[in-house]
Amino acid sequence: MQNYIERQWALCLDDFSKTISSAGMDLWINTLQPINVENDKIVFVAPSDVCRQQIYNNYLSRMKEVLKEHFKLENALVLIPEEQEAYIEAYNKSHASETGAVLDTKPTTLQNPFNPRYTFDNFVVGTTNQVIYAAARAVAESPAVRFNPLFIYGGSGLGKTHLLHAIGNYIWQHKMSNLNIVYVTCEQFTNDFVEALRVRQERGMEAFYKQYRQADVLLIDDIQFISSKKGVQEEFFNTFNELYQKGKQIIISSDRPPKDIPTLEERLRSRFASGFMQDIQPPDFETRLLIIQKKIEIERYEFEKGIDYELAERLSNFNIREMEAILRKIYFLANLNGKAVATFADMNEVLEKECQQCYVSDEKLTHEKIINAVCKYFTIDQKELTGRKRNKEIVEPRQICIYLMWHQLAIPLATIGEIFGRDHTTIIHARDKIMEQIKTNKQIKKVISDITSLLKTSND
Ligand code: ADP
Ligand code: MG
Repeated sequence: MQNYIERQWALCLDDFSKTISSAGMDLWINTLQPINVENDKIVFVAPSDVCRQQIYNNYLSRMKEVLKEHFKLENALVLIPEEQEAYIEAYNKSHASETGAVLDTKPTTLQNPFNPRYTFDNFVVGTTNQVIYAAARAVAESPAVRFNPLFIYGGSGLGKTHLLHAIGNYIWQHKMSNLNIVYVTCEQFTNDFVEALRVRQERGMEAFYKQYRQADVLLIDDIQFISSKKGVQEEFFNTFNELYQKGKQIIISSDRPPKDIPTLEERLRSRFASGFMQDIQPPDFETRLLIIQKKIEIERYEFEKGIDYELAERLSNFNIREMEAILRKIYFLANLNGKAVATFADMNEVLEKECQQCYVSDEKLTHEKIINAVCKYFTIDQKELTGRKRNKEIVEPRQICIYLMWHQLAIPLATIGEIFGRDHTTIIHARDKIMEQIKTNKQIKKVISDITSLLKTSND
């Protein structure tokens, strides 16, 4: 069965490459692994959800034509590795008893071991990371020519692993004379070494040396976790020296500079210093904005206009991984509420939970000041504003007041509810109503902007 699939799939790949660009082939089609043929469809495993989406969105119709020809099948199902096991289990359960055949496909081994999302194209370049980006790119384009070793350091979530994978992806995609690229975290390197020692002596060590000392490009992530154990440092030092002397490229990442890694031996520190060392700083406003826009584009999120600016302002203390999480949560919340487009309300709700300080806009402002300003503007009494009356002259200012408190103060909706003696849902309703009106009703928009100016002047 497997042989048949492999043979036919090779024919398909041949056909695809006539009409699909080489980038499309390398990035997506070639990473698919066919694992089974069912009644009317062929089942693949893709390395990631992005890859699956790419296949479904851009290549499926062409694939179907070719699959029809070589497999006589009409459909394709693309799974990701997490789904693969469940699929195989279910398949075996339902088929083993009839045919005795069992699918025992091993979990996918990726042809390209690098994360397809972590490319240079997906890396947003700004003033805080442009130097390291240029160096990483130069290394990818011509390994071991300049910047060797390349040492990248910077806080968590700022793109070190992304850059290491981007170098790997680039070399892989450009098929540079079959260079042997090895990516490993420092932790994995240590485990492999300890394991090699355990299984003992020559054979274990031989495999270990083969894995690391025959690399043309060695990427070591998170070197700050290097063990203080003498054996590990010694091994790393020897690997480093051997590769370096053979003119191989070494790239290392760390969350801090070598001088601040207490477990690092001095001789390694000075080896690292002999190459090119550069940090990545947290992104500034412009870079944050570009990153947010890029993520929205890549993930195909639909966001109300202006949210990108607002988030770039408010997420100033966030690293990029955290920014991604916030975007995901906002979009998820909008979807949960049945909306295709995430709104400012969704954004605020997420920020209110996730980050109180992102939610604050003006510390001097209090809810009393807002009530005061609204009453003054509409010439109504404070008791009426927070009271039970339901005539239009009062209801609208009350809703505006609720909206302003929510928008301008870092207080939970429940607290606003207490101020007005109303429950949470009523407060949400009032807030949403005004938010909707601001979009279409110029008059309301002007009222809000007038009261906001009033608040500003009364605060100064
Ligand atoms: P680190 O290894 O420094 O902790 P990662 O490389 O894992 O950080 O980055 C965390 C997340 O942020 C990843 O999803 C990565 O794609 C993203 N990221 C980091 N820097 C950038 C950038 N400049 N442009 C786009 N995405 C980035
Ligand atoms: Mg990392």
